[in-house]
Amino acid sequence: MTTLITNGTVVTATDMTRADVLVDGERIQAIGEGLAGWVKGSGADGSVSADTVIDATGRYVMPGGIDVHTHMELPFGGTFASDDFATGTAAAAWGGTTTIVDFAVQSHGESLAQGLDAWLEKAGPKSHIDYGLHLIVREINDRILREMDTMIDRGVPSFKLFMAYPGVFMLDDASIFRAMSRTADNGGLIMLHAENGGAIDVLVQRYLAEGKTAPVNHGLTRPSSMEGEATHRAIALAELAGVPVYIVHLSSREALTAVREGRDRGVPAYAETCPQYLYLSLDDLARPGFEGAKFVCSPPLRPADHQADLWRGLVTDDLQVVSTDHCPFDYKEQKILGKDDFSAIPNGLPGVEDRYTLLWDGGVAAGHISPTRFVELIATAPARMFGLYPRKGTLAPGADADIVVFNPDAERTLSAGTHHMRVDYSCYEGRKVRGLPEVVMQRGNVLVKDGKFHGQQGAGRFLERSRFGPGTA
Ligand SMILES: [Zn+2]
Repeated sequence: MTTLITNGTVVTATDMTRADVLVDGERIQAIGEGLAGWVKGSGADGSVSADTVIDATGRYVMPGGIDVHTHMELPFGGTFASDDFATGTAAAAWGGTTTIVDFAVQSHGESLAQGLDAWLEKAGPKSHIDYGLHLIVREINDRILREMDTMIDRGVPSFKLFMAYPGVFMLDDASIFRAMSRTADNGGLIMLHAENGGAIDVLVQRYLAEGKTAPVNHGLTRPSSMEGEATHRAIALAELAGVPVYIVHLSSREALTAVREGRDRGVPAYAETCPQYLYLSLDDLARPGFEGAKFVCSPPLRPADHQADLWRGLVTDDLQVVSTDHCPFDYKEQKILGKDDFSAIPNGLPGVEDRYTLLWDGGVAAGHISPTRFVELIATAPARMFGLYPRKGTLAPGADADIVVFNPDAERTLSAGTHHMRVDYSCYEGRKVRGLPEVVMQRGNVLVKDGKFHGQQGAGRFLERSRFGPGTA
């Protein structure tokens, strides 16, 4: 089965060239000018006889997106994220993302393997696209530390620890430092949710006691100074352990400053931000009535003046990745759990479908970043950092044929009425964007084309990822 994508502009993290892409089976066979002439079985007249030809005139041909931060059907606060691996990965594909790395969760008292196995069982039969897993580690002891090594051997080399949510996920500094020290030996990567959970919890209780229960108080009780503090502490601990560290969903100027200062003194500190922190703000959390609940996530949306700093961070490479932290909850059925208490609103936003186009529209079309930088942020850097490169994250001979044919001129309006995520609202309702992933392929199979979905539940494969190493990022 061969597919020839002709006449498009091929974009990688380093180059932008007018070229054809030839896909043979699951992989890219060749990229170059005028490939049509030598496709297997072509007629002597140079006519194309690939099984399928896709005309990409006026289109960009780019790697499928890699979203390294999703939470399909995550249990949270007595409910579950509304997208499961079937609906969530279909929505991802519609939006141009062909690989996710989701988070398996260790339960208290259970092993890491039990968490991993449970998530493999959930994802395997359902996922439309390829997926890897990180592990959320909720407790650190000698047994868990040893088990981290085994997880790495099973293709799970990244571990997320929390400095927030006391009593649920939060670990103390000693535990974080012990885990980091272990990765100095086993080559794993520690990812941190960096917010000072202790101080935040005191504020939350104080606000509730004062009768401040509306959604905006979620933002006001989690000030950016407490993200900055925790980010600085995380990087200092990593420096002490002599290991790289990755800050998830960085949302604020203070946290970015901590990352930049760490990097400037030579610490291998990395960070991702998410579209919600680039496009939405505390004003959304403060929408009238209970509507702000649609925008409750942690860290919270910040005052709008943080956005310019985050965009600058993407340009200067102090931020290396844009992921989504996709974790949707229905407004009517689930967010409502916090009607009289903002701290009971399930934390999380939908976003897996919108990332590719949002970053293109606000980044490339708006003139903040180049198409090559776009590809780096959306696919190449996450692939490198999380052990998927060069099989994923770029367009090159031998790489998986995970390809997006992107129409930069298509204009559309984001809306819950037209999105494919299983959630009853859109954070970007009514927002006009430029750009549409018209054709989305994974390993040579068409998932989306002509406005139709051709994917197959269970066709996604578990990706055993290699460990983080110097020079990979
Ligand atoms: Zn998350």
